[in-house]
Amino acid sequence: MRNQLSARVSQSSPRSAIVIGGGIAGCATAHALAQRGVEVTLIDRATQLASGASGNPRGILHARFGAGDNPLHQFVLAAYQHALRWLDEVLPVDGVARAQCGLLQLACNAVEVKRLGRLAQQTWPAHLMQFVDAAQASELVGIEMQFGGAWFPTGGWVVPPVLCAKLVSDARITQRLEYNAESLVKTQTGWRVQGQTAQGVAWQAEADVLVVCCAHTANKFEQFAHFKLTPVRGQISVVARTPASQALRAVVCGDGYCAPSVSDEHVLGATHTFDDESTEVRSADHAENLAHLNAYAPILHQALGERANEDWQGRASVRCSAPGSMPLVGRVDEGLYCSLGHGTRGLLTAGISAEVLLAELCGFPAPLPQNILHELAPLHRARSVRSRV
Ligand SMILES: Cc1cc2nc3c(=O)[nH]c(=O)nc-3n(C[C@H](O)[C@H](O)[C@H](O)COP(=O)(O)OP(=O)(O)OC[C@H]3O[C@@H](n4cnc5c(N)ncnc54)[C@H](O)[C@@H]3O)c2cc1C
Repeated sequence: MRNQLSARVSQSSPRSAIVIGGGIAGCATAHALAQRGVEVTLIDRATQLASGASGNPRGILHARFGAGDNPLHQFVLAAYQHALRWLDEVLPVDGVARAQCGLLQLACNAVEVKRLGRLAQQTWPAHLMQFVDAAQASELVGIEMQFGGAWFPTGGWVVPPVLCAKLVSDARITQRLEYNAESLVKTQTGWRVQGQTAQGVAWQAEADVLVVCCAHTANKFEQFAHFKLTPVRGQISVVARTPASQALRAVVCGDGYCAPSVSDEHVLGATHTFDDESTEVRSADHAENLAHLNAYAPILHQALGERANEDWQGRASVRCSAPGSMPLVGRVDEGLYCSLGHGTRGLLTAGISAEVLLAELCGFPAPLPQNILHELAPLHRARSVRSRV
């Protein structure tokens, strides 16, 4: 039985793959394929990996569960649990590239009070989520909080560019940086990608399978032109710690988030501007991040100095959002796959999405139940978008 199974797996596994996009989605996919012995060419138009949305100095592991039992909420729950195990393998907690400092979701407005109130009526394992009042919340995070909320003991932050670099440090992955992919052509045996380098030199590459992970710019490829992918600009603010803010020891989240200081800096996030692809850092966005902080954690806001400063550092980039807040993961055509639309939580969803692709590509058992796979499936989602138009 075992021999029959491995014969079937090796027969259906591709020997080579091209992955377009060196953000967290592409790096996770390249990693999963390389671990199964597939030779991967990873292509990115930028000069280094993690140059798009995955390039922030820190990102948080933020699982915002809904109270209903629908595929989105099941997916977020599964993705969070998967991400913790996956990160333990790829990027163990070291306090530098990853911290498991805990994360507090505050019941700081009517929507969150209702959502968290409904969640609190269900039974959750204590290692996953606990419900706390304002006094307990203050004790846990080290700074006085006005609100209670949900405490995630295993929540925390990671440095996404370090995670990406770790994922692709595999001899079976060849990186092609400054390679802009312009067109995708189906061949007799697989797929060919054609484009130009940053120096204007034409290039092409072929492989058995092709996985498109280049976020909203996938729309430029004919095969993805009808996908509903929305660019959403976001800016984080990097804020110098103060003696008072130094006491923060966990991530706090309301309408935005603030991470504890590392190297004397907090990361405060993040703005959302739909259909805006510009990446300049704006002081208005710093002010917005700070105003949100004031609403969910006023004492922390005071501790940080209360006023957005023109000198604040920050980083703006563009998320790719897909309808229903679910990424598009799976087969698009024979030998053509994608992992797109990770929206606001790519750190949570990229790893499990790579496992979904691997299962589909190599014939392994899927890591998620059929109803969730159905909702992730690009062909199903593209059909439902078309039928609504
Ligand atoms: C301000 C902000 C804060 C965020 N905070 C968090 C957070 O705290 N936690 C969290 O989980 N998520 C967070 N996110 C979301 C998360 O960053 C994204 O979901 C994730 O980075 C998406 O990864 P990706 O690989 O799909 O896209 P990207 O990281 O954007 O990667 C796409 C890559 O494709 C390349 N590319 C594009 N077109 C081409 C082409 N034609 N040829 C070759 N290469 C191409 C780009 O250069 C890029 O490297 C945040 C996002 C933003 C913007």
